[in-house]
Formats: sequence, structure tokens, C-alpha cells
Amino acid sequence: MPKLASYNGKVDSIENIKVSPMSRAFLFSDSVYEVISFYKKKFIDFETHLDRLKHSLNETKISCSIEDCKTEIVKLLNESKFEDGYIYYQVSRGVDSIRSHFFEESDCERFGFIEEFSFFNQSPLKVMLVDDIRWQRCDIKSTSLLGNVLQMNDAKSIGCNEILMHKNGELTEGGASNIFFVKNKTIFTPELSPNILPGITRHQVIKIIKDKKLNFEEGSYRIDDLKEASSIWFTSTTKGILGVEEIVNLETKINTECELLEICKNAFVKRYFS
Ligand code: PLP
Repeated sequence: MPKLASYNGKVDSIENIKVSPMSRAFLFSDSVYEVISFYKKKFIDFETHLDRLKHSLNETKISCSIEDCKTEIVKLLNESKFEDGYIYYQVSRGVDSIRSHFFEESDCERFGFIEEFSFFNQSPLKVMLVDDIRWQRCDIKSTSLLGNVLQMNDAKSIGCNEILMHKNGELTEGGASNIFFVKNKTIFTPELSPNILPGITRHQVIKIIKDKKLNFEEGSYRIDDLKEASSIWFTSTTKGILGVEEIVNLETKINTECELLEICKNAFVKRYFS
């Protein structure tokens, strides 16, 4: 079945959508995006995703009406038969008449598609620890993901399905997720900074941890902290909360049956998927 997509407000089969090669998304990766999940036809934390999209648009100085984005995302969901899944939605600076680093005033270009997805029964992750080779504004959800793409595919070539990045030994995040780990019955996560994406799922999990009054710290952590961790988790819109079974290039003491992970996972499913 062809994918349903939206281009500048018009919903159509993805095969019928034609994009200009002069699009700044195509030439410069001059665009930002969101991935928003829905369950039983209802968006999960829709307004928080829109706020983050607004942040990405502001920081990149792309002018676009967030109301238009909202209308188009809702329309995609309403016109689709899918009950559970996610919408990928991106906004580029637009289509230029010449290729130039200096951008012209142009209308933004909006594109999204809808995917069916089942959020349950995902397998634990096998992870490779890698150098974080990305730019210095990872708080912006930019489509410029070459750093993540290259490192994730190196990891895939040795049988991994995620990476865990560090900058000079300081832990940042996963290739497409945020990280948490447990040490001495306390849950830790790297604090927000320009080096990580402020994940919506990260935020949801922190709310759960605080509601449950579990021991928790946000700060700056190093590879050595992972060596002592009893459990490591990744969070994202499509993964939810997912445990790590192995870091292939680091000796750890991970135990996949972690009580704190189970508490958070159960609360997460109850709050967002029931
Ligand atoms: N960090 C990176 C680099 C990501 O690409 C993602 C999601 O795509 C996340 C973190 C998790 O963000 P969220 O929980 O909002 O999906």
C-alpha cells in the first residue's frame, strides 16, 4: 500500500509528490523535523512536539506558521487508516532560484508522511560506543544527520542497532535516542545542553521517575560511569524505553532484569499507551 504523505498542505500518495531539486532541504539539509507518535488514533504529547518544532524553527530562523504545521499533521492522521504509528514531518527553508549558502526570503516547504508502527515487544539493544562527531547544536532537531548516519552504519556492520556517543569521554546520547543508566540504585541521565536533543520521551521518563520518587540525577557523566552501571536504557518516540543488553566495545556489569527499568516501563505504558 502506498504511503500517505503531505506536501505543503496537500495530502496525497507519496508517489505523487514531486519536490524541486532546488529545495534547500535537498541541497543543504536546511530543514528541521519532528517524529510524533500516535496510539489508538491519538497523538502522544502533540503540543510538546510542536513546541520543540517551534524551537528548531526559531533557532534556524526558518519562518513557518506552527498552526499550518499542526493542521497538516492532524489532517495526515485523520486521512490515514492507521491506528498506531508515527508521523514524520519536516520543514525546510524553501526552494531557492540559485544554490547559495545565503538564503533568500522564500516560503517554507513542508513535508510529512505517516507510518504504521507497533510500539510493543521491541528487543533489547546491542550498542557500540562511538565518538560524537556531530555539530555543536544538537538541541536543534535538524535533518542534517550525517554524523549519526555514518556512526550508526558502522555499528550496524558489526551487528549493533544503536550507538552510544561521547565527546572526549563525556556521554551525550544515542544515534536516535537519549540515554539513562542505573548505578547504585540511582537513575542518571546527561543534563540538557547544546550537545543533546531534548527528547520528548526523556522528558516523559523524568516525569515518571520524579512522580515515583526514585533516586535520580541529571548531570555530566563519563564512559567510566557506564562501566559500573547495572542497567542502561535508551528512550525515543519510537523505542519508548528500551534496555541495552550489551555494549560491544565496553566491558560493563549490565543486568537486563532491572527493577527500576520495569517500574518506569510499566508506568510509561500505563500513562501513554492505555
Ligand atoms: N536524540 C536523538 C539524536 C534523536 O534523533 C532522538 C529521536 O529521534 C532522540 C534523542 C529522542 O527524542 P524523542 O524522545 O523526542 O523521540
